This record gives sequence, structure tokens and C-alpha cells, in this order.
Amino acid sequence: MTEIPAARPAVDYLLLTPGPLTTTATVRAAMLQDSCTWDSDYNLGVVEPVRRELVRLATARHGADYSCVLLQGSGTYVVECVLGCAIGKQERLLIINNGAYGARMVEMARLLGLNHLEIDCGETQRPNLAEIEQQLIAHPDITHLAMVHCETTTGMLNPLDEVAALCRLRGIRLIVDAMSSFGGIPMDIGELGVEFLISSANKCIQGVPGFGFVVARRRALEACAGRARSLSLDLHGQWHAMETQGGKWRFTSPTHVVLAFAQALRELELEGGISARHRRYSENQQRLVEGMERLGFRPLLARHWHSPIITAFHSPTHPGYRFADFYQALKGQGFVIYPGKVSQADCFRIGNIGDVSPAQIDALLAAVAKACEQIMA
Ligand SMILES: *Cc1c(COP(=O)(O)O)cnc(C)c1O
Repeated sequence: MTEIPAARPAVDYLLLTPGPLTTTATVRAAMLQDSCTWDSDYNLGVVEPVRRELVRLATARHGADYSCVLLQGSGTYVVECVLGCAIGKQERLLIINNGAYGARMVEMARLLGLNHLEIDCGETQRPNLAEIEQQLIAHPDITHLAMVHCETTTGMLNPLDEVAALCRLRGIRLIVDAMSSFGGIPMDIGELGVEFLISSANKCIQGVPGFGFVVARRRALEACAGRARSLSLDLHGQWHAMETQGGKWRFTSPTHVVLAFAQALRELELEGGISARHRRYSENQQRLVEGMERLGFRPLLARHWHSPIITAFHSPTHPGYRFADFYQALKGQGFVIYPGKVSQADCFRIGNIGDVSPAQIDALLAAVAKACEQIMA
């Protein structure tokens, strides 16, 4: 046979990435069990409590109006599933695009043949409320608005509260890609009036990759019946199976990943819930930025635009700098960072989400200093 090398590297890297990210040993250990997708120990015992907990985390007082659908695949599959099912043939979607994930929704809308309109803000600009309102007035046929909450491309936190208020005022149904923020930034989708919130297992809840989820208004899910543009990405179909068959997934469920996710939810609660996690991420991000600035690095975005999720830094202008060398120099010291994703500026990114402590941020900063000495001597 082909020799397949053991996947285990010599060291356990700390992943400072937007996911898959550093998980706890106990989350990984939860996967050491096989489950039957058909059995109630799994469906009623694990899937249903996970769905209920996600609704509880998404809204404190409006839980009865919302329900949760889990779906196989990475986060992108879930965004595509929601867009493909939520927008009817007579409806029109406005997409706010200020980064790669906003652009990805535009691409989906195009491929799905949705009646849509885009506001292209550029990758380093915050969506402008007046411009959004202007578009809604100019195009009264717009029924839905889709926006990314934390644009992971840059780490920018988009103005969800303000956009949600505008949508409530004008009766626009709001779809939020909260992939990289849900679980790490407090929000109450019931208060905000969000119709569909989308996130995935391997971001701020700190599970492993393999599925994503939607927390949506029940009546919005009901309205998706018969609207799917694909067999497997059928939001209502998946919801209906889970609701009527006690947590059963339509097709093979990523059982081990769901067990890890259930453990990750317990650990989120033990940490003190979303507000405590938000505090840890924020403190780590501040520590990171201050330390990197002391080493001469400059963040791409102004501080007040920043999320605590991920930070983009300008690449050094030193002629000896190459991202690949910098990456390897850090990896050799046990830290994995992320390439940049904006087209107008040469950047790299460092993620704050995952099981990462302030002491590990300090260790990273020491490793960055050493890497700089090595490659830019
Ligand atoms: C991670 C992420 C996604 C989904 O990416 P996948 O690679 O499909 O998991 C979508 N939107 C945002 C903002 C993200 O951070």
C-alpha cells in the first residue's frame, strides 16, 4: 500500500487560527466513542440537548420563538443552505460585503440564481448605515438582508446592533453569518430580531470541525418548506427530521464531532458562559496587539473596529521578510499562525479564539521576537 505517514507531528502546535482551532484535551477525548445515528442515546441524549442549548445561548427571553438546525459540512455549507432556502422566488436579498465571507455570500447568491443586490464596502471599510438605508429605500422589493458579524478576513466587527435596528424598522428579515463570533461575543438574536443566525462547531464554541448550525425563528424555518434548491442543503427537511424524529439527522450524522461539541458546550458553561469567554478573548487580543506593537508590528484596522476574534497585522517591510519563513520560524517554536486574506495590503493574521491562555500569548510574543531575529537579521 501507499505509505501513509502518522498524522501526529512531533509537537502539539498551538493553533492561533480562525478554526479549526486549539481545543481542550477533554473535548478531543469526548470523541473516543462510537454512536449509532439511529439510537436514542445519541439523538435524544446528545443531539436534542445540544440544539436546546444553542437556542438558549442565542437568546435569553425569546427561546420559544426559535429553533436550531444542525447540518453536516463546514460553515460555508450552512450559509449556502440558508440562502438557498430562505429567499423565495418573489423575494430579494441585499448582501453587505466587506471581506471574503461577504464576497462568498455574493458568489452563492449568483450560483443559486437568487434575486439579489450587493453593497460592496471594500475589505477594510465598515458597512455604512446611511448607504444601507438608501439601498433599502431605493429598492423596496428587498425582503432580506445578509451580513457577516465578525468579518474574519480582517477581524472587523460589523455593526450588528445598528443594522438589526434598521431591519426591524423597515421590516427586513435579517440573516447573520455569526460563524466566527457566536459563542465568543454576547448577542441576543431575539432582542435583535434576527431571523437566521449561522455558526459552526469549530469556532468560538471550541469544538472540532464537521458541522454547522442555524438558530432561526420557527416561522422562518416553516416558510422554507419546499424551497430547497438542492437535496442535501434542505433546511426545512433537516429541521423537520430533527423536530419530528427526536434529533435525528436526515443523513449520516458526524457523531464523534457532535460528542466533542457537547463537551465543548459544557466547558463553555464552566468557563462562565459567553460573557466570560468574550472577556478572555478580549484580554488576549489586547495583550497580543500591545505586544506586537512593542515589537514594531502594526494592526491593519483601527482599534475601535476590532473584534477580539482575530487580528490582521501588516507584514514587515524588511527585505528579508517572507511569510513562509516567518510561518516556519513560528511553527518551529510550536505556534501556527494564519496567512493574510485582504487583497489591498500584505498582511498575516493571528487568531485569538480557542483554548488559549494569556501566558500562551506571552509565549507567542517571545516566539515572534525570536522569529524576527532569525529571518530579518
Ligand atoms: C469560518 C467562517 C465561515 C465558514 O468557513 P468554512 O471554511 O466553511 O468553515 C464563514 N464565515 C465566516 C465569517 C467565517 O469566519
